[in-house]
Amino acid sequence: MTAFVGQVTLDGPSGTGKSSVARLVAARLDAAYLDTGAMYRAATVAVLDAGIDLEDAEAVAKTVIAADIRVGTTAGTETVTVDGVDVAQRIRGGEVTRAVSPVSAVPAVRRQLVDQQRALVAGATAVVVEGRDIGTVVLPAATCKVYLTAAPEARAQRRAGQLGLTDAAEVEALAADLRRRDEYDSSRADSPLRPAEDAIVVDSTDLDRDAVVEAVVALALRAVGAGERT
Ligand code: C5P
Repeated sequence: MTAFVGQVTLDGPSGTGKSSVARLVAARLDAAYLDTGAMYRAATVAVLDAGIDLEDAEAVAKTVIAADIRVGTTAGTETVTVDGVDVAQRIRGGEVTRAVSPVSAVPAVRRQLVDQQRALVAGATAVVVEGRDIGTVVLPAATCKVYLTAAPEARAQRRAGQLGLTDAAEVEALAADLRRRDEYDSSRADSPLRPAEDAIVVDSTDLDRDAVVEAVVALALRAVGAGERT
């Protein structure tokens, strides 16, 4: 069977199951994996710890450029450090999630992290990269571009399930947070969230995770001419 060689980009809003799909697709394709959201989250840790105003774009950029942000590229193990400190858990918390959109809207922050992202995947024979602007900006010549989306209610429910929330008010607060982040990420001037022109849109509203993984693996194999024979 022909193996996958190339780059798969997986973009889309929060709560589509993108991260777990991306990890599973990477494992199936025997590919490296890069979570670019983890890099923006790690940058946000550096900004929060510096105690600077999130709206001060210049200070935010300076702090991120000075920070040593490292994110691993192995699907099975999550490695995220800032200046040598393990922040893999902390980046998933509410404090970072609330602050990440303004930090990632700063153009100098994006330039720094995009350069790092390109360098991290440059040597990989096969790689799956997930984020918001991977197909449009980071890897415009990728082999296979997928834009994963889902209805807002389905995304809020999925996130609530992951966090173990059942209280209606908490689920509504979560839905409001997703809407706020989508709005911020889609309307920013630099690299807004949108599908690349040559991306294939996969709507996961009525699909379970395994079905989405199958769909993305099939698209990746088809892109290298290996799909029909499997
Ligand atoms: O994917 P995740 O929810 O971890 O991303 C966190 C935030 O990082 C997003 O809401 C977005 O503001 C930012 N991000 C980005 N570009 C990427 C990946 C994430 O701006 N490629």
